[in-house]
Amino acid sequence: MARTKDTNRRVCSFCGRPESDVPLIITGLNGYICSDCVKAAQEIVEVHMGTGNDPEKQHEDFDMKGLPRPAEIKAYLDQYVIGQDDAKRYLAVSVYNHYKRLAQQKDDDGVEIEKSNIIMVGSTGTGKTLMARTIAKLLKVPFTIVDATVFTEAGYVGEDVESILSRLLQVADFDLEQTQRGIVFIDEIDKIARKSDNPSITRDVSGEGVQQGLLKLLEGSVVNVPPKGGRKHPDQDYIHVDTRNILFICGGAFDGIEKKIAQRMNTHVVGYNSVQNVRHMDKGNLMKYILPQDLKSFGLIPEIIGRLPVLTYLNPLDRTALRSILTEPKNSLVKQQIKLFEMDGIKLRFDDDALEYMVDKAVEYKLGARGLRSIMESVMMDLQYEAPTGKQKDITVTRDYARQQLEKSLPAEAMQ
Ligand code: ADP
Repeated sequence: MARTKDTNRRVCSFCGRPESDVPLIITGLNGYICSDCVKAAQEIVEVHMGTGNDPEKQHEDFDMKGLPRPAEIKAYLDQYVIGQDDAKRYLAVSVYNHYKRLAQQKDDDGVEIEKSNIIMVGSTGTGKTLMARTIAKLLKVPFTIVDATVFTEAGYVGEDVESILSRLLQVADFDLEQTQRGIVFIDEIDKIARKSDNPSITRDVSGEGVQQGLLKLLEGSVVNVPPKGGRKHPDQDYIHVDTRNILFICGGAFDGIEKKIAQRMNTHVVGYNSVQNVRHMDKGNLMKYILPQDLKSFGLIPEIIGRLPVLTYLNPLDRTALRSILTEPKNSLVKQQIKLFEMDGIKLRFDDDALEYMVDKAVEYKLGARGLRSIMESVMMDLQYEAPTGKQKDITVTRDYARQQLEKSLPAEAMQ
């Protein structure tokens, strides 16, 4: 018994400090423990057992105050992403609901808000990643982008799906609680479609097996994560990450899915009303009629589709959208160039028809928004090299200059 003989005072059996030196002392069968040692012991337990992820604790800690409302989230997205209104609204609502879940009190009336993982379908370069990245910036939560094509079924060459969580942990500086509230963007989810339903996929190890692996993360479970990423190893210490409150946003181009949508819609066209509906159908953009069963026809397993309840689409970017992307977003390509030159004390301007020319080329080369960036870089490379040491303090990029630079750097044959 840890009592000093002379005074009969109680002494902490762990740190040896007497009752008078500690905030509180607790009596056990054969000893005492002070409140400081209780706290220290709790931390040690959390580190070793990975139990710092008590969901009830998260509910207590999470605060709805200061969280942007859906309309505010959309307004923020509008500053960076052109168009895609439907996808923005879906994303804003899902993210908002996700954080409501985190804030939900344990002693509620039994109504449990379910997780709202999202799947966004749209051609490459239409803004899926940009949107997810922008949302993460607004909410200040750990965010990581992973490419579904690097994953293979356990046992094959490639990465295990658990490495998704290793990356999120790294982004969160290994703060487990933050990690467990993070957002993961899984790109190219369409590339792990089942082979039998999608003849264009030639590798099967990254098909259904990977979907099964992902399922575990999406549905919310405690996953053993190798802290440094890479393959699991029997001798390694794992971090136990609870994925229940991690929001997963999946994106994919689903090339050719329009055919499946068209097939479904045609087979359902029976009767006068349906004929009317088909007449009003936007045949140029069938993607907007996408339903979960189309994802199934494409080769996603029903369990995965069930775990991605929020399905939205992105529109292809037309000429007008590409033109806006050049100048309107808060960090548009044109604004970035102007800023770069401003830092050298140079006023840079673009003639309107120079911008129109760049858009024409992006459309012509079918490079979409991604292409705009490389076109802009090619046009500006010589100026960026020469201007900082030149005398000119006022520069205007004209259509002729843009054409001359682009033709020089991207000979027409190379773009065929
Ligand atoms: P993906 O749909 O393939 O994920 P990204 O979001 O990566 O496409 O888009 C690639 C780049 O194209 C972005 O970094 C951005 O510069 C530009 N971009 C694409 N779509 C948009 C958009 N709707 N608004 C503004 N910029 C866009």
